[in-house]
Amino acid sequence: MRILVFNAGSSSLKFGVFDIVPGAPLGDAVHVFKGSFDRFGNEGCDYRFGVKDSRLRRVAHTGLGQATRGVPDALAEVGITGIDVIGHRVAHGGTEFTQAAELTPDVVAAINTLSPLAPLHIPANLEAIEVARGVWPDAPHWAVFDTSFHLTNPARATTYAVPQAWRDAGLRRFGFHGTSHKYVAQRAAVELGQKLRDLRLVSLHLGNGASACAIARAESVDSSMGMTPLEGLVMGTRSGDVDPGLFGYLARQMGLSIPEIEDALHQESGLKGLTGSSDMRDVEARAAEGDAQAQLAINLYAYRARKYIGAYAAAMGGLDVLVFTGGIGENSPSMRRRICDGLEFLGLKLDHDRNISVSVQGRAAPQIQAYGARVNVLVTETAEQLMIAHDVASAFAAPRSACLRIPVAVSARHVHLSRAAVDVLFGPGYELTPDKPLRQKGHWAARERVRLQGPKGEIGHVAILGPLRPRTQIEISRTDGFALGIDAPVRDSGALEGTPHVRVIGPAGQLDTDGLILAACHIHMNPEDARAFGLADGDSVNVTLAGTGRGLTFGKVLIRVAENAFTEMHIDTDEANAAGISGAAEGALSGAAVMHKG
Ligand code: ADP
Repeated sequence: MRILVFNAGSSSLKFGVFDIVPGAPLGDAVHVFKGSFDRFGNEGCDYRFGVKDSRLRRVAHTGLGQATRGVPDALAEVGITGIDVIGHRVAHGGTEFTQAAELTPDVVAAINTLSPLAPLHIPANLEAIEVARGVWPDAPHWAVFDTSFHLTNPARATTYAVPQAWRDAGLRRFGFHGTSHKYVAQRAAVELGQKLRDLRLVSLHLGNGASACAIARAESVDSSMGMTPLEGLVMGTRSGDVDPGLFGYLARQMGLSIPEIEDALHQESGLKGLTGSSDMRDVEARAAEGDAQAQLAINLYAYRARKYIGAYAAAMGGLDVLVFTGGIGENSPSMRRRICDGLEFLGLKLDHDRNISVSVQGRAAPQIQAYGARVNVLVTETAEQLMIAHDVASAFAAPRSACLRIPVAVSARHVHLSRAAVDVLFGPGYELTPDKPLRQKGHWAARERVRLQGPKGEIGHVAILGPLRPRTQIEISRTDGFALGIDAPVRDSGALEGTPHVRVIGPAGQLDTDGLILAACHIHMNPEDARAFGLADGDSVNVTLAGTGRGLTFGKVLIRVAENAFTEMHIDTDEANAAGISGAAEGALSGAAVMHKG
């Protein structure tokens, strides 16, 4: 499938052509062509083109509309024809657009209403969409949104502590650069040969705009940009985090209006506000010559980024991978070094030689951590257009009507105990008594029970499931977490690093142990069913619970394939209550939402 991707801004139009086989790994996509029209003006603009060796010439286009209309000629010049689908980058998708959306008149109207949230970007995005639809009236046009990746952020990360009326008016954090963070996270997992779902990752996109993103279980869980792309890190011309109290102070002391302050925070702050130049190359050169302002700017830039890494490691209960991308992230070894210095306590340490000899040519993602460091540090070029093409290909090619049914079982709170835990709770050498067999072959519920105790309260009569495991794991619902007074993270079974402690009480003793989790929705599946569904271990699917009145859909449900497994989806009691399920139920597994782990 041949996909043309547009990334339109007020002063430039970037575009790319990709050949993609839907469902194939991201790395298999072929980048056929890359072009950009830059710095529109009365005298025309710069046109850069070519995939490997980029060429430059002046062309007559004075604005975005003309440039978009010029793309067919640009493609014809290099012999590119046969565009199947067109993907458009759209800066803001609000809370509505969780994934790529076909640009129907309703979708275009919905994007228009989001303009106040991204007044610099959405009008340009819509202009390019309108012109492109005129140029390619028969091709399907799809939008991919910068914000979608972050819509998985929990409410505690997206909510500003402000009056209800303001929140009702739409004030909340969104996060941006989503396509970039999603791409580099996937690229890092491929490079490390691990499933993204098993990694806790911080992605630092350091370009003219800059943002940090925390990614756990393959989802964005926090992002440094907020309602607008102004919050967070120090950027080329944007301030990043400031005290909102400055609005009142500046109005009173300097007589500045809100638009004047906003304009300065967007255009005259960041590196530019600190040094007069928004370009990190200039700032680094001046700092090396002894310029104190440039030195302060570099220190501040690195300090802010380092604080976000620490904050996100805390938010995720640990850190496995740090990825650098964007012009500064890719090209400045000294900035990478400054950001990472002092993070040895997290197990994060750079190797000097690897750091200074990074090359990201050809989508490489070199590792630069010191030998033996616990945290892997990677550098890679971001590929937002590729990610957009990939998302569009997947969404466009998905069999939207395919629907497969799967049995659903509700797991009440329970514990899996280790041998050592049984010894403490029931006495040395004690053997649990298998009472009820479970549907997964060889698994059982024991006659014995335990109590759980947290700082807020206790839960009694908690089931123990056998057989014993190497590590104790306690699975509760979010409501149970409030009863205990402990905030448990959503985790896949066995992914227990950095999980909170809880007290488990048995007849012979008590045990303070980590391993308290909300089990992520998952589907046990035997290899025959997996083949029949076209799924593999580690894939994720969306499942809609049928016949429950509400039609609740669970996203990113993990497929766990094992020999002899009984094919069944497991959800916890809160999830069952939300879906209105009491006894047996069935879920409809929708083919449109399958995410293959590659
Ligand atoms: P955008 O966000 O506009 O895509 P880029 O990702 O191209 O921007 O990043 C631009 C930033 O990268 C600028 O601050 C530029 O100075 C910086 N940069 C590019 N090359 C280097 C380098 N070799 N050393 C330090 N900074 C660099």
